[in-house]
Amino acid sequence: MADKLIIFDTTLRDGEQSPGASMTRDEKLRIARQLERLKVDVIEAGFAASSNGDFEAVQSIANAIKDSTICSLSRANDRDISRAAEALKGANSARIHTFIATSALHMEKKLRMTPEQVLEQARQSVRFARNLVADIEFSPEDGYRSDPDFLCRVLEAVIAEGATTINVPDTVGYAIPELYGNFIKTLRERIPNSDKAIWSVHCHNDLGMAVANSLAGVQIGGARQIECTINGLGERAGNCSLEEVVMAIKTRRDYFNLDLNIDAKHIVAASRMVSQTTGFVVQPNKAVVGANAFAHASGIHQDGVLKARDTYEIMRAEDVGWTANKIVLGKLSGRNAFKQRLQELGVSLDSETEINAAFTRFKELADRKAEIFDEDILALVSDESVTAEKEQYGFVSLYQQSETGEQPRARIVFTVDGHEVRGESVGNGPVDASLKAIEAHVKSGAEMVLYSVNAISGSTESQGEVTVRLQNSGRVVNGTGADPDIVVASAKAYLSALNKLQSKADRVAAQG
Ligand SMILES: [Zn+2]
Repeated sequence: MADKLIIFDTTLRDGEQSPGASMTRDEKLRIARQLERLKVDVIEAGFAASSNGDFEAVQSIANAIKDSTICSLSRANDRDISRAAEALKGANSARIHTFIATSALHMEKKLRMTPEQVLEQARQSVRFARNLVADIEFSPEDGYRSDPDFLCRVLEAVIAEGATTINVPDTVGYAIPELYGNFIKTLRERIPNSDKAIWSVHCHNDLGMAVANSLAGVQIGGARQIECTINGLGERAGNCSLEEVVMAIKTRRDYFNLDLNIDAKHIVAASRMVSQTTGFVVQPNKAVVGANAFAHASGIHQDGVLKARDTYEIMRAEDVGWTANKIVLGKLSGRNAFKQRLQELGVSLDSETEINAAFTRFKELADRKAEIFDEDILALVSDESVTAEKEQYGFVSLYQQSETGEQPRARIVFTVDGHEVRGESVGNGPVDASLKAIEAHVKSGAEMVLYSVNAISGSTESQGEVTVRLQNSGRVVNGTGADPDIVVASAKAYLSALNKLQSKADRVAAQG
């Protein structure tokens, strides 16, 4: 009989902590819905006590998602734990994930606590949490670099207090597969009550081994939960990538012999959603979700290649959600066909008003672009201006002029709190002029730390998707915009980023 392996996704917590990857509550909710479709067992939705924004995100995900367990991170103190429990109230199935550092370095330099104090605080926190929620995960932060004797005492104590999952993080990405697997194996052998908890792995990718370490933790160490993120999103080199670890276990079931709940055909859509939302693009040769990961997905459709696929491919592209670019809708498609396609793509808009707004945008796009692909529809609904009525800034129109030898100039009309304003500027190029025209009026003073353009469906006829990352007084936000005209897409992305800069939220940093 195969054991069950729990997939714990932390895209919305550990992934989102990556500088520049911050997401709004609505974006997190949209991604959480996609994770539910993927049949992720546990969704770590955020760190409720770190900011009001995080609290609200965890709360709205807990209220909306029914099939996955919803988890909030929490430091090992009563206030954080109460806040997590409160945010999770609406969840069908709730988990509190509490952590405290156990390595000598972290205890001394960061916590300024003695090992005995850390042990006592871990014990008390789990006891406190257990009175609020039955499902408790405990992580000794920097666990892999902790003294094994001390770690055994801490973990035995928290299991005795009722921790149901024990996670062993390689917080700094220092582990080697065999050593990490054996580390967990030894802990499980030495701790007398280790069989009362499910063991979990949490690996960072600093040496490119997060997936390999996680698999060794499972195979050698006997862990039965893997913590991971879509596209491997995360601080520095990122976390263990969900799509890679899941497809390794599915493709090599002969070796791992583990059961997974994951419905892999939603993987590619999840990957796209996360990269569009965060502006962290996926490299073309990335396993499973990169544009070149399958010969099939690289746009070559000759008969020979199709016939030879089995010879070179160990997985089927369709099984992870790759579909050949195909025209799905056109100018004559009606509102019902559009709505149905949204459902098939797993997009659920909150209200009829939002569906109508998206449909209007679809018609506008169809007037300019004969063939509408799934990618276009996804870009259309992820565009911030679908929900423009809530936003401070909204795009109206743009005129720009550029000619060889002349200085480009742009005039833009946009709304500020519903009122139309105009901005005008020259620049190094049409995009530069357009963004300066916005800035001439808004005067945000924000610094641009990233500007990227991506062709949504591959050719120059496709829509351009632009990501703008702005930084202002220590906050970093991403704005995205899509349009067949990349100058317009750039202006939309800039306005979307400005909207996000408006929501002022300071948060507490967490590692783990
Ligand atoms: Zn982490």
